[in-house]
Amino acid sequence: MVSLKSYAACNETTRGRHHTEPSPPFRSEFQRDRDRIIHCGAFRRLEYKTQVFVNHEGDLYRTRLTHSIEVAQIARSIARALQVNEDLTEAIALAHDLGHTPFGHAGQDALNYCMRDHGGFEHNLQSLRVVDELEQRYADFPGLNLTFETREGILKHCSLPNAVQLGDVGKRFLDGTHACLEAQLTNLADEIAYNSHDVDDGLRSGMITLEQLSDVQLFGKQLQQVTERYPDLDRKRTVHEIVRRIINDQVVDLITTSQTALQHEDPETIDDVRQAHSTLIRFSPDMREQNLELKRFLRTHLYKNYRVHRMSAKAEKVISSLYTSFMNDTGLLPPVACNRTMQLEMENGSDGKARGIADYIAGMTDRYALREYERLFDPVSLT
Ligand code: MG
Repeated sequence: MVSLKSYAACNETTRGRHHTEPSPPFRSEFQRDRDRIIHCGAFRRLEYKTQVFVNHEGDLYRTRLTHSIEVAQIARSIARALQVNEDLTEAIALAHDLGHTPFGHAGQDALNYCMRDHGGFEHNLQSLRVVDELEQRYADFPGLNLTFETREGILKHCSLPNAVQLGDVGKRFLDGTHACLEAQLTNLADEIAYNSHDVDDGLRSGMITLEQLSDVQLFGKQLQQVTERYPDLDRKRTVHEIVRRIINDQVVDLITTSQTALQHEDPETIDDVRQAHSTLIRFSPDMREQNLELKRFLRTHLYKNYRVHRMSAKAEKVISSLYTSFMNDTGLLPPVACNRTMQLEMENGSDGKARGIADYIAGMTDRYALREYERLFDPVSLT
Protein backbone atom coordinates (compact mmCIF):
# COMPACT_ATOMS: atom_id res chain seq x y z
CA MET A 1 0.00 0.00 0.00
CA VAL A 2 1.50 3.32 -1.07
CA SER A 3 1.20 6.07 1.52
CA LEU A 4 -0.59 9.18 0.34
CA LYS A 5 0.88 12.67 0.26
CA SER A 6 -0.67 15.17 2.67
CA TYR A 7 -2.26 17.03 -0.26
CA ALA A 8 -3.96 13.94 -1.73
CA ALA A 9 -7.73 13.61 -1.44
CA CYS A 10 -8.75 11.32 1.41
CA ASN A 11 -11.69 10.29 3.57
CA GLU A 12 -10.71 12.78 6.28
CA THR A 13 -10.72 15.87 4.07
CA THR A 14 -13.53 15.06 1.63
CA ARG A 15 -16.11 17.79 1.26
CA GLY A 16 -18.63 15.00 1.40
CA ARG A 17 -21.91 14.22 -0.30
CA HIS A 18 -25.07 16.26 -0.77
CA HIS A 19 -27.05 13.72 1.21
CA THR A 20 -25.10 12.67 4.27
CA GLU A 21 -24.59 8.92 4.53
CA PRO A 22 -22.78 6.75 7.09
CA SER A 23 -19.23 5.90 5.97
CA PRO A 24 -18.85 2.49 4.33
CA PRO A 25 -17.29 -0.01 6.78
CA PHE A 26 -14.81 -1.68 4.43
CA ARG A 27 -14.30 0.78 1.60
CA SER A 28 -13.10 4.34 1.25
CA GLU A 29 -15.58 7.04 0.23
CA PHE A 30 -14.01 7.10 -3.23
CA GLN A 31 -14.14 3.32 -3.64
CA ARG A 32 -17.84 3.62 -2.94
CA ASP A 33 -18.13 6.32 -5.63
CA ARG A 34 -16.33 4.08 -8.12
CA ASP A 35 -18.56 1.13 -7.28
CA ARG A 36 -21.72 3.19 -7.71
CA ILE A 37 -20.50 4.35 -11.11
CA ILE A 38 -19.73 0.81 -12.29
CA HIS A 39 -23.21 -0.36 -11.28
CA CYS A 40 -25.13 2.47 -12.95
CA GLY A 41 -27.02 2.11 -16.23
CA ALA A 42 -25.23 4.98 -18.00
CA PHE A 43 -21.94 3.16 -17.46
CA ARG A 44 -23.17 0.01 -19.17
CA ARG A 45 -24.45 2.03 -22.12
CA LEU A 46 -20.91 3.30 -22.79
CA GLU A 47 -20.24 -0.06 -24.42
CA TYR A 48 -22.45 0.87 -27.35
CA LYS A 49 -21.46 4.49 -27.76
CA THR A 50 -19.05 5.65 -30.41
CA GLN A 51 -15.63 6.99 -29.56
CA VAL A 52 -14.53 7.80 -33.12
CA PHE A 53 -15.60 4.72 -35.03
CA VAL A 54 -19.19 3.57 -34.93
CA ASN A 55 -19.74 0.25 -33.25
CA HIS A 56 -20.59 -1.75 -36.34
CA GLU A 57 -17.38 -0.79 -38.20
CA GLY A 58 -15.53 -3.51 -36.33
CA ASP A 59 -15.18 -5.26 -33.01
CA LEU A 60 -11.65 -4.08 -32.33
CA TYR A 61 -12.26 -0.35 -32.23
CA ARG A 62 -12.51 1.59 -29.00
CA THR A 63 -15.91 2.37 -27.63
CA ARG A 64 -16.64 4.87 -24.86
CA LEU A 65 -16.44 1.99 -22.40
CA THR A 66 -13.02 0.70 -23.43
CA HIS A 67 -11.83 4.30 -23.68
CA SER A 68 -12.96 4.96 -20.10
CA ILE A 69 -11.19 1.81 -18.88
CA GLU A 70 -7.98 2.87 -20.64
CA VAL A 71 -8.23 6.33 -19.07
CA ALA A 72 -8.68 4.69 -15.66
CA GLN A 73 -5.60 2.50 -16.19
CA ILE A 74 -3.39 5.42 -17.20
CA ALA A 75 -4.76 7.71 -14.50
CA ARG A 76 -4.22 5.10 -11.78
CA SER A 77 -0.59 4.60 -12.80
CA ILE A 78 0.01 8.34 -12.57
CA ALA A 79 -1.87 8.66 -9.27
CA ARG A 80 0.10 5.85 -7.68
CA ALA A 81 3.42 7.29 -8.82
CA LEU A 82 2.48 10.72 -7.43
CA GLN A 83 1.11 9.18 -4.22
CA VAL A 84 -2.32 10.71 -4.59
CA ASN A 85 -5.67 8.97 -4.33
CA GLU A 86 -5.91 6.13 -6.85
CA ASP A 87 -9.52 5.23 -5.98
CA LEU A 88 -10.74 8.77 -6.58
CA THR A 89 -8.81 8.88 -9.86
CA GLU A 90 -10.44 5.65 -10.98
CA ALA A 91 -13.91 6.92 -10.07
CA ILE A 92 -13.42 10.14 -12.04
CA ALA A 93 -12.01 8.28 -15.06
CA LEU A 94 -14.85 5.77 -15.21
CA ALA A 95 -17.46 8.53 -14.93
CA HIS A 96 -15.91 11.21 -17.11
CA ASP A 97 -17.76 10.28 -20.31
CA LEU A 98 -21.11 9.14 -18.86
CA GLY A 99 -22.87 12.13 -20.42
CA HIS A 100 -21.73 11.50 -23.96
CA THR A 101 -24.38 11.36 -26.65
CA PRO A 102 -24.50 8.57 -29.22
CA PHE A 103 -22.20 9.03 -32.27
CA GLY A 104 -19.25 10.70 -30.53
CA HIS A 105 -18.54 14.38 -31.00
CA ALA A 106 -20.80 14.60 -34.01
CA GLY A 107 -23.71 13.65 -31.76
CA GLN A 108 -22.73 16.20 -29.13
CA ASP A 109 -22.43 18.97 -31.76
CA ALA A 110 -25.80 18.07 -33.26
CA LEU A 111 -27.57 18.04 -29.90
CA ASN A 112 -25.87 21.26 -28.86
CA TYR A 113 -27.14 22.90 -32.04
CA CYS A 114 -30.68 21.63 -31.43
CA MET A 115 -30.52 23.04 -27.90
CA ARG A 116 -29.10 26.42 -28.96
CA ASP A 117 -32.15 28.35 -27.70
CA HIS A 118 -32.48 26.26 -24.54
CA GLY A 119 -29.09 26.51 -22.85
CA GLY A 120 -27.13 24.27 -25.24
CA PHE A 121 -25.81 20.78 -24.60
CA GLU A 122 -22.36 19.95 -23.25
CA HIS A 123 -21.36 16.33 -22.60
CA ASN A 124 -19.18 17.27 -19.67
CA LEU A 125 -22.04 18.97 -17.86
CA GLN A 126 -24.27 16.10 -18.85
CA SER A 127 -21.92 13.60 -17.14
CA LEU A 128 -22.46 15.54 -13.93
CA ARG A 129 -26.21 15.62 -14.57
CA VAL A 130 -26.19 11.84 -14.98
CA VAL A 131 -24.56 11.21 -11.61
CA ASP A 132 -26.39 14.03 -9.81
CA GLU A 133 -29.91 13.59 -11.15
CA LEU A 134 -30.61 11.20 -13.96
CA GLU A 135 -29.59 7.88 -12.44
CA GLN A 136 -32.46 6.78 -10.23
CA ARG A 137 -31.29 3.79 -8.23
CA TYR A 138 -31.23 4.65 -4.55
CA ALA A 139 -34.15 4.91 -2.16
CA ASP A 140 -32.82 7.88 -0.21
CA PHE A 141 -31.65 10.28 -2.92
CA PRO A 142 -31.75 11.02 -6.63
CA GLY A 143 -28.57 10.37 -8.62
CA LEU A 144 -25.58 8.51 -7.18
CA ASN A 145 -24.87 10.99 -4.38
CA LEU A 146 -21.13 11.02 -5.14
CA THR A 147 -18.51 12.91 -3.15
CA PHE A 148 -17.64 16.49 -4.04
CA GLU A 149 -14.18 15.42 -5.26
CA THR A 150 -15.50 12.91 -7.81
CA ARG A 151 -18.04 15.47 -9.02
CA GLU A 152 -15.45 18.24 -9.35
CA GLY A 153 -13.29 15.82 -11.35
CA ILE A 154 -16.14 14.99 -13.71
CA LEU A 155 -16.70 18.69 -14.40
CA LYS A 156 -13.55 19.36 -16.39
CA HIS A 157 -14.64 22.64 -17.87
CA CYS A 158 -17.66 24.83 -17.66
CA SER A 159 -18.90 28.18 -18.99
CA LEU A 160 -19.36 31.01 -16.48
CA PRO A 161 -23.18 31.15 -16.80
CA ASN A 162 -23.32 27.40 -16.14
CA ALA A 163 -20.80 27.66 -13.29
CA VAL A 164 -23.07 30.16 -11.50
CA GLN A 165 -25.88 27.62 -11.53
CA LEU A 166 -23.81 24.65 -10.43
CA GLY A 167 -23.14 25.72 -6.84
CA ASP A 168 -20.20 24.01 -5.09
CA VAL A 169 -18.59 22.33 -8.11
CA GLY A 170 -19.01 25.43 -10.29
CA LYS A 171 -17.25 27.71 -7.83
CA ARG A 172 -13.69 27.11 -9.02
CA PHE A 173 -14.54 28.43 -12.48
CA LEU A 174 -15.70 31.68 -10.91
CA ASP A 175 -12.91 32.26 -8.40
CA GLY A 176 -10.00 30.93 -10.50
CA THR A 177 -9.04 28.10 -8.15
CA HIS A 178 -8.29 24.54 -9.30
CA ALA A 179 -9.60 21.05 -8.89
CA CYS A 180 -7.77 18.45 -6.77
CA LEU A 181 -4.71 16.72 -8.28
CA GLU A 182 -6.68 13.54 -8.91
CA ALA A 183 -9.04 15.52 -11.17
CA GLN A 184 -6.19 17.33 -12.90
CA LEU A 185 -4.31 14.15 -13.71
CA THR A 186 -7.37 12.25 -14.91
CA ASN A 187 -8.05 15.06 -17.35
CA LEU A 188 -4.60 14.63 -18.88
CA ALA A 189 -4.81 10.83 -18.74
CA ASP A 190 -7.91 11.22 -20.92
CA GLU A 191 -5.83 13.13 -23.50
CA ILE A 192 -3.05 10.55 -23.41
CA ALA A 193 -5.56 7.74 -23.88
CA TYR A 194 -7.51 9.18 -26.78
CA ASN A 195 -4.52 10.52 -28.70
CA SER A 196 -2.80 7.16 -28.50
CA HIS A 197 -5.79 4.93 -29.18
CA ASP A 198 -7.05 7.11 -32.00
CA VAL A 199 -3.66 6.60 -33.66
CA ASP A 200 -4.08 2.85 -33.17
CA ASP A 201 -7.69 2.75 -34.41
CA GLY A 202 -6.91 5.16 -37.25
CA LEU A 203 -4.09 2.93 -38.50
CA ARG A 204 -6.26 -0.17 -38.19
CA SER A 205 -8.98 1.48 -40.28
CA GLY A 206 -6.49 2.47 -42.98
CA MET A 207 -7.61 6.11 -42.75
CA ILE A 208 -4.12 7.14 -41.67
CA THR A 209 -0.80 5.52 -42.54
CA LEU A 210 2.57 4.92 -40.88
CA GLU A 211 4.17 7.07 -43.57
CA GLN A 212 1.97 10.06 -42.74
CA LEU A 213 2.56 9.58 -39.02
CA SER A 214 6.34 9.41 -39.44
CA ASP A 215 6.28 13.22 -39.78
CA VAL A 216 4.62 13.62 -36.38
CA GLN A 217 7.42 13.92 -33.81
CA LEU A 218 5.90 11.85 -30.99
CA PHE A 219 5.18 8.98 -33.35
CA GLY A 220 8.07 9.41 -35.81
CA LYS A 221 10.71 9.20 -33.07
CA GLN A 222 9.35 5.85 -31.85
CA LEU A 223 8.80 4.53 -35.37
CA GLN A 224 12.47 5.10 -36.09
CA GLN A 225 13.65 3.48 -32.86
CA VAL A 226 11.38 0.45 -33.23
CA THR A 227 12.22 -0.22 -36.89
CA GLU A 228 15.95 0.18 -36.18
CA ARG A 229 15.85 -2.21 -33.24
CA TYR A 230 13.35 -4.69 -34.74
CA PRO A 231 13.80 -4.42 -38.54
CA ASP A 232 11.89 -7.65 -39.24
CA LEU A 233 8.92 -7.04 -36.98
CA ASP A 234 5.56 -7.28 -38.76
CA ARG A 235 3.47 -4.15 -39.20
CA LYS A 236 0.86 -4.99 -36.59
CA ARG A 237 3.37 -5.57 -33.83
CA THR A 238 5.35 -2.50 -34.90
CA VAL A 239 2.23 -0.37 -34.46
CA HIS A 240 1.44 -1.84 -31.02
CA GLU A 241 5.05 -1.37 -29.92
CA ILE A 242 4.97 2.28 -31.01
CA VAL A 243 1.60 3.00 -29.41
CA ARG A 244 2.64 1.54 -26.07
CA ARG A 245 5.85 3.59 -26.18
CA ILE A 246 3.92 6.76 -26.98
CA ILE A 247 1.69 6.19 -23.95
CA ASN A 248 4.70 5.47 -21.78
CA ASP A 249 6.59 8.55 -23.02
CA GLN A 250 3.71 10.82 -22.15
CA VAL A 251 3.01 9.22 -18.79
CA VAL A 252 6.67 9.41 -17.72
CA ASP A 253 6.90 13.04 -18.85
CA LEU A 254 3.70 13.92 -17.00
CA ILE A 255 4.82 12.25 -13.77
CA THR A 256 8.32 13.76 -13.71
CA THR A 257 7.17 17.26 -14.73
CA SER A 258 4.39 17.20 -12.14
CA GLN A 259 6.74 15.95 -9.42
CA THR A 260 8.98 18.94 -10.09
CA ALA A 261 6.02 21.34 -10.07
CA LEU A 262 4.81 19.86 -6.78
CA GLN A 263 8.25 20.15 -5.19
CA HIS A 264 8.44 23.74 -6.30
CA GLU A 265 4.96 24.74 -5.13
CA ASP A 266 5.28 22.57 -2.01
CA PRO A 267 1.58 22.32 -1.10
CA GLU A 268 0.72 21.04 2.34
CA THR A 269 -2.98 20.35 1.96
CA ILE A 270 -5.55 19.69 -0.73
CA ASP A 271 -6.69 23.31 -0.34
CA ASP A 272 -3.15 24.52 -1.11
CA VAL A 273 -3.42 22.54 -4.37
CA ARG A 274 -6.73 24.21 -5.15
CA GLN A 275 -5.31 27.66 -4.48
CA ALA A 276 -1.97 27.22 -6.25
CA HIS A 277 -0.97 29.70 -8.98
CA SER A 278 -1.76 27.18 -11.67
CA THR A 279 -2.59 23.52 -12.08
CA LEU A 280 0.30 21.38 -10.84
CA ILE A 281 -0.22 18.35 -13.06
CA ARG A 282 1.32 19.14 -16.41
CA PHE A 283 3.43 18.02 -19.33
CA SER A 284 6.83 19.56 -20.02
CA PRO A 285 6.60 22.35 -22.64
CA ASP A 286 8.26 20.08 -25.19
CA MET A 287 5.83 17.19 -24.61
CA ARG A 288 2.89 19.62 -24.62
CA GLU A 289 4.00 20.77 -28.08
CA GLN A 290 4.41 17.18 -29.34
CA ASN A 291 1.02 16.33 -27.94
CA LEU A 292 -0.59 19.28 -29.73
CA GLU A 293 1.11 18.32 -32.97
CA LEU A 294 -0.38 14.83 -32.75
CA LYS A 295 -3.80 16.31 -32.00
CA ARG A 296 -3.57 18.58 -35.03
CA PHE A 297 -2.58 15.61 -37.17
CA LEU A 298 -5.52 13.53 -35.98
CA ARG A 299 -7.94 16.40 -36.54
CA THR A 300 -6.83 16.88 -40.13
CA HIS A 301 -6.30 13.29 -41.17
CA LEU A 302 -8.66 11.23 -39.04
CA TYR A 303 -11.54 13.24 -37.61
CA LYS A 304 -12.07 14.98 -40.96
CA ASN A 305 -11.70 11.82 -43.04
CA TYR A 306 -14.69 11.37 -45.36
CA ARG A 307 -15.75 8.13 -43.66
CA VAL A 308 -15.84 9.81 -40.25
CA HIS A 309 -17.48 12.84 -41.86
CA ARG A 310 -20.23 10.67 -43.37
CA MET A 311 -20.93 9.24 -39.97
CA SER A 312 -21.08 12.75 -38.54
CA ALA A 313 -23.55 13.85 -41.20
CA LYS A 314 -25.70 10.81 -40.50
CA ALA A 315 -25.52 11.40 -36.76
CA GLU A 316 -26.62 14.97 -37.20
CA LYS A 317 -29.61 13.86 -39.25
CA VAL A 318 -30.66 11.18 -36.76
CA ILE A 319 -30.29 13.41 -33.71
CA SER A 320 -31.89 16.52 -35.15
CA SER A 321 -34.80 14.51 -36.58
CA LEU A 322 -35.44 12.80 -33.25
CA TYR A 323 -35.19 16.07 -31.36
CA THR A 324 -37.53 17.95 -33.70
CA SER A 325 -40.13 15.18 -33.67
CA PHE A 326 -40.15 14.95 -29.89
CA MET A 327 -40.32 18.73 -29.50
CA ASN A 328 -43.29 18.84 -31.87
CA ASP A 329 -45.07 15.98 -30.14
CA THR A 330 -43.93 14.74 -26.74
CA GLY A 331 -46.53 11.97 -27.09
CA LEU A 332 -43.98 10.21 -29.33
CA LEU A 333 -41.68 9.72 -26.34
CA PRO A 334 -41.87 6.44 -24.41
CA PRO A 335 -43.95 6.90 -21.21
CA VAL A 336 -41.12 7.34 -18.69
CA ALA A 337 -39.28 9.92 -20.80
CA CYS A 338 -42.59 11.59 -21.66
CA ASN A 339 -43.63 11.98 -18.02
CA ARG A 340 -40.22 13.32 -17.06
CA THR A 341 -40.25 15.79 -19.94
CA MET A 342 -43.74 17.00 -19.02
CA GLN A 343 -42.62 17.44 -15.43
CA LEU A 344 -39.59 19.49 -16.53
CA GLU A 345 -41.82 21.53 -18.83
CA MET A 346 -44.13 22.35 -15.94
CA GLU A 347 -41.15 23.49 -13.87
CA ASN A 348 -39.26 25.37 -16.55
CA GLY A 349 -41.37 25.87 -19.69
CA SER A 350 -39.93 25.12 -23.11
CA ASP A 351 -36.36 25.05 -21.74
CA GLY A 352 -37.42 22.26 -19.39
CA LYS A 353 -39.16 20.39 -22.17
CA ALA A 354 -36.08 20.64 -24.41
CA ARG A 355 -33.85 19.46 -21.54
CA GLY A 356 -36.00 16.40 -20.93
CA ILE A 357 -35.77 15.49 -24.61
CA ALA A 358 -32.01 16.12 -24.66
CA ASP A 359 -31.62 13.86 -21.59
CA TYR A 360 -33.50 11.11 -23.39
CA ILE A 361 -31.48 11.45 -26.61
CA ALA A 362 -28.12 11.80 -24.84
CA GLY A 363 -28.79 8.59 -22.92
CA MET A 364 -29.22 6.56 -26.13
CA THR A 365 -26.60 4.20 -27.46
CA ASP A 366 -25.73 4.46 -31.17
CA ARG A 367 -27.87 1.49 -32.10
CA TYR A 368 -30.80 2.55 -29.94
CA ALA A 369 -30.79 5.98 -31.63
CA LEU A 370 -30.76 4.31 -35.05
CA ARG A 371 -33.65 2.04 -34.03
CA GLU A 372 -35.65 4.98 -32.67
CA TYR A 373 -35.06 6.79 -35.95
CA GLU A 374 -36.26 3.75 -37.86
CA ARG A 375 -39.33 3.33 -35.64
CA LEU A 376 -40.28 6.99 -36.12
CA PHE A 377 -39.48 7.53 -39.77
CA ASP A 378 -39.45 4.21 -41.58
CA PRO A 379 -43.06 3.53 -42.69
CA VAL A 380 -42.38 -0.21 -42.89
CA SER A 381 -41.16 -0.39 -39.29
CA LEU A 382 -44.31 0.09 -37.24
CA THR A 383 -43.23 -1.37 -33.93
MG1 MG B 1 -12.76 10.88 -22.65
